[in-house]
Amino acid sequence: MSVKEITCKTALHYHDRAFATNWDLNIYRGCGHRCIYCFAQYSHKYLDTDHFFDDIFVKTNISDALDSDFIKQSWSDDLVNVCGVTDAYQPLEKEYVLMPKVIETFIRRRNGMIITTKSTLLLRDIDLLEELNKVARVEVRVSASAIDESIRERIEPFSSSTVDRLQMLSRLNDRGIYTGVLMMPIIPYLTDNVENLAAIFKLSKENGAKSIIPQTLHLRGNTKQVFFTYVQKLFPKLLEKIKPLYRGSYVDKDYQENFRQKIWSLRKKYDFYNEVCERNNFRKQTSLW
Ligand code: SF4
Repeated sequence: MSVKEITCKTALHYHDRAFATNWDLNIYRGCGHRCIYCFAQYSHKYLDTDHFFDDIFVKTNISDALDSDFIKQSWSDDLVNVCGVTDAYQPLEKEYVLMPKVIETFIRRRNGMIITTKSTLLLRDIDLLEELNKVARVEVRVSASAIDESIRERIEPFSSSTVDRLQMLSRLNDRGIYTGVLMMPIIPYLTDNVENLAAIFKLSKENGAKSIIPQTLHLRGNTKQVFFTYVQKLFPKLLEKIKPLYRGSYVDKDYQENFRQKIWSLRKKYDFYNEVCERNNFRKQTSLW
């Protein structure tokens, strides 16, 4: 793997996707979790390399750039999605230790953040997150798609185990921090069985998650080719079943409807409905399920 240190002029980036917030902050470009379905690979097309997992760029001045963004008159105290594209707690963060300074900057400026991660490394910074939560909103979401370690190790090889991620939520809840689960991406015929989905629901509930948002796999842009190449290598029998479901970027409509019904049965079984969120855009997302 090659690591290149870079400096950035701004830390905060606006986008129109509006998944909870319009502002992203990403410390790293590229990601060492190496998820075979990674949706963020497109972001490397602006760089000199196509190797999203192997050529990783580190924004070493990220907390200074963030501080400058926060003091601009135009900044309006919006929530910021840390990890909007790449995971801030990916393996390189153990070495670079950039998140503590980023969180300290949020504390100083009393600005809220959302973190989505696949790593329990986040617990290293739990005291700082608790401090931030006293002066601004903090939300931590873990993504979870496979409870079975033999599958998780193949699809997300350098992430924490899904069980460890979900158990991390109870530690955060004990500190008063809002937690939720992004049950995604669910891969047809691999992680969509009721046993797996039910285990994620059960552990999410037991560990105090306030919401669970499921989503099937999307295969946009070059993600589709990369994903199918991995499937061919890792789960050869799956390829012929899954390919017909993805004529475009999204899963087949009948499959999706069937999946939606499975989720509704689990919501009833576990009495787990997402709490109403005060932000309209998020309510829109959750009302689908
Ligand atoms: S954690 Fe996210 S950004 Fe990193 S490889 Fe996995 S899907 Fe991609």
